[in-house]
Amino acid sequence: MLNKKIKEILIGTNNVGKLKEIKDLLPKSTRIFSTKDFKLNSPKENGSTYLKNSLIKAKFFSKKTKMICLADDSGFEIDILNRKPGIFSARWAGANNNFNKAISKVFKELYRKDKNWKLKKIKARFICALTIYWPHGKKINSLGKIEGVISDKKKGKNGFGYDPIFIPTKSRITFGQMKPSKKYKIDHRFKAFKKIKRFF
Ligand code: IMP
Repeated sequence: MLNKKIKEILIGTNNVGKLKEIKDLLPKSTRIFSTKDFKLNSPKENGSTYLKNSLIKAKFFSKKTKMICLADDSGFEIDILNRKPGIFSARWAGANNNFNKAISKVFKELYRKDKNWKLKKIKARFICALTIYWPHGKKINSLGKIEGVISDKKKGKNGFGYDPIFIPTKSRITFGQMKPSKKYKIDHRFKAFKKIKRFF
């Protein structure tokens, strides 16, 4: 099927870290708009899955602006916490987006589950769902994942969110210690984007 290439797009996120990373994934020739250009707040993310939430955001911003919109919904899952925080990853940081608080909550919950968790490999992953929504109602989506383990303490100042406590498989350092240019080439957002790259 022939797809007309997207020449300009609105990135449907108010998260500066994600906006930076998504901008980096798109071709330099694509004209990029952000929600700040339109002074738009984010809609309520009340979907039950990452895919549903990315659709809620992409559709909301596309309807508001009449532009093609790319939105992501992502999260962090820890196996022994029954995949929490999951779709509540952003909410664990509270209204002030305080990730020291979210990471403390992760450590507290891990300790509650298993006092010796620091001696074990605690499996975790980042997941990213992407949706592109066209003003006339067409939509496509994709999912990307990266597997890894939890670091026994926060390490590194790069990135955002849970990056300082996530060590991807085959790596010995956290996303927080990794150069952004390296993280962007292996992570969940990159993998989800690869599947929809042909639209750009
Ligand atoms: P939402 O997609 O806006 O609901 O937010 C997802 C949350 O997952 C973010 O606020 C981060 O806490 C976390 N998250 C998603 N992707 C990453 C990442 O690449 N690094 C660190 N944290 C992430």
